[in-house]
Amino acid sequence: MKNLLPFDKPVFYTRPLLPDLDQYRSVLQRAWDAQWLTNMGSLHVEFENRVGQMLGVPAISVFNNGTIALITAVQSLRLAGEVITTPFTFPATPHVLSWNGIHPIFCDIDPVTMNLDPAKIEPLITPHTTGILAVHVFGTPCDVDSIQKIADTYGLKVVYDAAHAFGVEVSGRAIGTYGDVSMFSFHATKLFHSAEGGALTYRDPALKARVDLLKNFGIKNEEQVVMPGINGKMSELSAGLGLLVLDMVEEERRKRAEIAAVYRERLPRIPGISLLPTYPHVRQSYQYFVIRVDPKAFGKDRDTLYAELKKLNVITRKYFYPLCSDYSCYSQLPSAAPSHLPVANKVVREVLSIPYFGTLGTENAHRICDMIAHVRATT
Ligand SMILES: *Cc1c(COP(=O)(O)O)cnc(C)c1O
Repeated sequence: MKNLLPFDKPVFYTRPLLPDLDQYRSVLQRAWDAQWLTNMGSLHVEFENRVGQMLGVPAISVFNNGTIALITAVQSLRLAGEVITTPFTFPATPHVLSWNGIHPIFCDIDPVTMNLDPAKIEPLITPHTTGILAVHVFGTPCDVDSIQKIADTYGLKVVYDAAHAFGVEVSGRAIGTYGDVSMFSFHATKLFHSAEGGALTYRDPALKARVDLLKNFGIKNEEQVVMPGINGKMSELSAGLGLLVLDMVEEERRKRAEIAAVYRERLPRIPGISLLPTYPHVRQSYQYFVIRVDPKAFGKDRDTLYAELKKLNVITRKYFYPLCSDYSCYSQLPSAAPSHLPVANKVVREVLSIPYFGTLGTENAHRICDMIAHVRATT
């Protein structure tokens, strides 16, 4: 019997991992005993080491959030002028360029991976270009080799927004070791989180010294401030929470894999619904589960599916709609013209993030598949 009645309570596209509160209390006791709540306390130190190990990177700096980390990454590499980036991302990506006085130059995306299309980068390079800011969208790795080749040819820096790519590996190599710097977000909506938080990882570990100064106002010691830094420090409260969530990540991945297996088996059988590919050489992030709606074959467009699922108490997200190139602060840029970004403008109308978190369970995943099929067959 298919249950096509609305869920009793809203089923969101994601839910945060929540450790036992008593356990969190006992971790916080360490901060209370030390009377040390921030500024690289013992929880910060332990957290930074353990996340670095988990990510398989030689050096890491943790931050109070991913956006400040990304702003700092761009500062640390002394980027200026123009930086080539994608319009299909979260607002933070182009905004960190603006916060550094840099002009974002939007480049179209690949129709399958939805990542920056390396074949479209070169024509956008000018004498003012200093870097490429690419995003591993939904955890799918960018074409890192092609991007690096272009960067090497033109002497550009490469920064990756790896906010969705926690734990991703490409042929066994940690995603955080590609490019010059990668940013991870530990926001509550991410698979791994510390309520708010983020990190930078480096190809060249020597960069960590400069970043650690930048994240603490440029304070070198009690007498010397050596550069215009910012406050990017993670507090002991976040580090302590993150330490506990770290222990929950593997099990969460297992549970999400079971849900993904249901979705992957059932959803492609619905005409008009397609999924993002998986790759045998890539260890997935299990961050989001994204479907694409082809309005012709499905008979309804993505926005209709979104609205119908909402009536059934299934709260999906149109990630990443609208395109950054359509924000009022960027739409006047020449590179933001829709005619310059045809693939991004098509993809952005098709994507929908559906519920994907361990406590959803496979039974509810089946129920959501039934609902999507039902929306196609009716309304
Ligand atoms: C979540 C996210 C960010 C921002 O991270 P915060 O930690 O929330 O500042 C940046 N880029 C992408 C693609 C994200 O999904």
